[in-house]
Amino acid sequence: MKQKARTLKNIMEEQTKKNSKTVLVTGGLGFIGGHFIEMLLEKGFSVVNIDKITYASNPKLNDVFSAGFPGKYRFIKKDINDLEELPYANYIAHFAAESHVDNSIKDGFVFTRSNVLGTQNLLNLIAKTRGNNLIHEWPTSCPEFIHISTDEVFGDIENGFFKENDRHNPSNPYSASKSAAEMLVIAYGRTYGIPYKITRTTNNYGPRQHPEKIVPHCIMRGISGNKIRIHGTGNQKRNWIHVKDNCHAIFKVMTEGKFGEIYHISSPEEYSVNDIVRMTLEKLGSRFDATTVDYVQDRSGQDMRYALDSTKIKETLGWSALSAFKESIGDIIEHYKQHRRE
Ligand code: NAD
Repeated sequence: MKQKARTLKNIMEEQTKKNSKTVLVTGGLGFIGGHFIEMLLEKGFSVVNIDKITYASNPKLNDVFSAGFPGKYRFIKKDINDLEELPYANYIAHFAAESHVDNSIKDGFVFTRSNVLGTQNLLNLIAKTRGNNLIHEWPTSCPEFIHISTDEVFGDIENGFFKENDRHNPSNPYSASKSAAEMLVIAYGRTYGIPYKITRTTNNYGPRQHPEKIVPHCIMRGISGNKIRIHGTGNQKRNWIHVKDNCHAIFKVMTEGKFGEIYHISSPEEYSVNDIVRMTLEKLGSRFDATTVDYVQDRSGQDMRYALDSTKIKETLGWSALSAFKESIGDIIEHYKQHRRE
């Protein structure tokens, strides 16, 4: 009995030690980064958040995190391109990016600057911590880099699912910038021995997303009685994952994934944009028809279907998505009713 109690204590001490690690999160005032920070703080990690505070960010999160987790959260307002040194961290979870495809079609340069050059600056700074030891091996003496990428790097696929090592074929400046960033991560891993892991995720939904994205757009317009704008026919299909499921998957990859590996994160839920709008309107008690929906000019270069095969993360790390859109959308609607972001 005594032996068992000691073992349990040891386990708890190990757990505390493990969770007292520091994670540098970039873009942590954004939608997914904000949820990831919340999860890390709840698990006992210390967090340093670097965010430029673009229009897409939610600066109120700073107060929430500082008040909720005193001494565990630090914020640095900075563009990742302007960082000259890295704050101490065991891990770097890199979310910071310009993320809205429509904006990238209007002005792609800002996407290249943040998503490509910003990533390269981070990689250069990590490489510096390796000193002259430029050999291709995974060291423990520098922070581990978790790069957050997207299903959009592949472009669309009519049938079937993309696997981790399939060829990129991006369709717009956003997905091209995310593809380029991945290439830099892989190359820096090889040349400078930076220990990296890459996750690619499908369409996230959940509380606190910017209303430029379809789910909050639909909820906010549905609540206020304004028409919902849908690109093209609305038949374009996406895979939909709850942001909390995605954060758990990223955490699994960060703590248990293999260096130099890519992991796909998707759910079993494939729906068209029309399906998503219909389900959301139903939950709001509204009809899906010409009085509630406006079809607007399609996005140039529109991808008709994204699909990731996430067998690898399921089989090697034991992760799978737990939430379903239909069951989650009620709570998400309540969130937007209470905390409008428009
Ligand atoms: P978001 O637009 O909500 O947040 C991005 C955050 O990054 C913002 O807080 C912004 O201020 C910050 N940022 C942008 N450029 C920066 C810079 N140069 N320096 C510092 N901070 C900067 O984005 P999101 O939806 O949370 O997406 C996070 C990451 O996940 C992105 O890399 C995106 O490509 C990827 N991703 C998102 C989805 C999705 O469905 N939202 C799907 C797949 C992949």
